[in-house]
Amino acid sequence: MADLEKLRRNLESHGFGYRYFETPEEAADYLCASLHGRTVGIGGSITVEELGVYPRLAEDNQVFWHWKQDPAQARAQAGAAEVYLCSANGVSETGEIVNIDGTGNRLAASMYGKKKVYIIIGVNKVEPTLEQAIRRARDVAAPLNCRRFGLQTPCALAEEPRCFDCSHPQRICKGLLVFWRKMNGVDECEVVLINRKLGY
Ligand code: SF4
Repeated sequence: MADLEKLRRNLESHGFGYRYFETPEEAADYLCASLHGRTVGIGGSITVEELGVYPRLAEDNQVFWHWKQDPAQARAQAGAAEVYLCSANGVSETGEIVNIDGTGNRLAASMYGKKKVYIIIGVNKVEPTLEQAIRRARDVAAPLNCRRFGLQTPCALAEEPRCFDCSHPQRICKGLLVFWRKMNGVDECEVVLINRKLGY
């Protein structure tokens, strides 16, 4: 059972915002009520997909998401947007946020030039320490994403998902980003924690 009070305290002391919701529906309502008339980028995220916010946000924001639009153009527009929504592969109770990326659009867009970044996570991604959050990103999130993409990487083909630190041409793990503190190039960075299993 994650210590969410410790997580909140440490995230806030590291300059991050923190909001907690019991359900994805409540979190989705909060995001949609918060964003009007903005340019909004979305990173590749099953969690954001599960929230179902894309069509709602698109009603009165300009939303760029490479899963719904021309990928190259949408990635560039999302990178230049005022607001960015993504998830994380792991978050530590000690207040650090971990993400692995292959293309790099999600890492780049989440760390610079934004008025606000929302990092939306299910409680399943909370780990006690930074080391365990990194381990989760490598041994749980990345292999499951490889399976989702139907790749032939060793982690995707193994019986139990785990990382083999492969050199496979389809390797999706090209960079790992740890937010120790809120980045100076982002005005606000808020963790939206949802008390459900969401994403990978
Ligand atoms: S490094 Fe290779 S084996 Fe490890 S999770 Fe990434 S793709 Fe899979």
